[in-house]
Amino acid sequence: MTELSVAAALNRTAELAAISDSPRLDIELLLCEVLDKPRSWLFTWPDKTLSAEQQARFEQLLTRRLQGEPVAHLLGYRDFWTLRLKVSPDTLIPRPDTETLVEQALALLPDGPARVADLGTGTGAIALALASERPQWQLTATDLHPGAVMLARENAQAHQLSNVEILQGSWCAPLSGHFDMIVSNPPYIDPEDPHLSQGDVRFEPLSALTAEDKGMADIRSIAEQAKAHLKSGGWLLFEHGYDQGETVRDLLRQLGYAQVRTQRDLGDNDRVTLG
Ligand code: GLN
Repeated sequence: MTELSVAAALNRTAELAAISDSPRLDIELLLCEVLDKPRSWLFTWPDKTLSAEQQARFEQLLTRRLQGEPVAHLLGYRDFWTLRLKVSPDTLIPRPDTETLVEQALALLPDGPARVADLGTGTGAIALALASERPQWQLTATDLHPGAVMLARENAQAHQLSNVEILQGSWCAPLSGHFDMIVSNPPYIDPEDPHLSQGDVRFEPLSALTAEDKGMADIRSIAEQAKAHLKSGGWLLFEHGYDQGETVRDLLRQLGYAQVRTQRDLGDNDRVTLG
């Protein structure tokens, strides 16, 4: 095997560009993994060469990535907000878009005791980000899938967040009592959406991605159920698709929610609607 330098490995982006939106970042993360070094190290030591073992492992990961496997699945984790979260094929991989929901939730309630629920928590990303920022909040996260519940509990434990409980069940079913805020990043993609057959989403559970009624079915169920679990003046927040803002606003108003508005994400797309 010819020796491979860090700089040469970083140059393998062209192969990945065909299948990934972030080829450079992908390579950097895979290299950090095999070298067990932080990203800054790659730029400090471009001339270092990989050991034979490291090179073999790098080629192996690159091949799997070229076959489409998400980087988060290859590494076993994804960074979200300030937290490194364990991921598995049982749940959605946390996305930067969802940090918009976290920002909005933090901005809505003052720091102080509050009860907040996160429905369909998956890895626990939203609930754990909120719990880490607001030690006085009491978070309840729910998920239908036992694999997700286990994963979210593991992530809560890893970050020693004791102000979060994770319960198994559908949307609001496991909740008791009333909440100051209910948040959710539910499945909202139209099952007919052609993007579902491309890229990383192929490796994520469809149950976390798609909903009937052009992606609106679960948002509707949650908005209906949540009314019985919100305190008077409490907030409901949803992540949704870039083209669903108006539909979600209409739905919330029909159901009697007030102060309904939509927030854009970093890509300037409608992403979070609240009421
Ligand atoms: N935003 C994600 C995507 O388009 C979907 C997330 C979700 O369905 N909640 O891949």
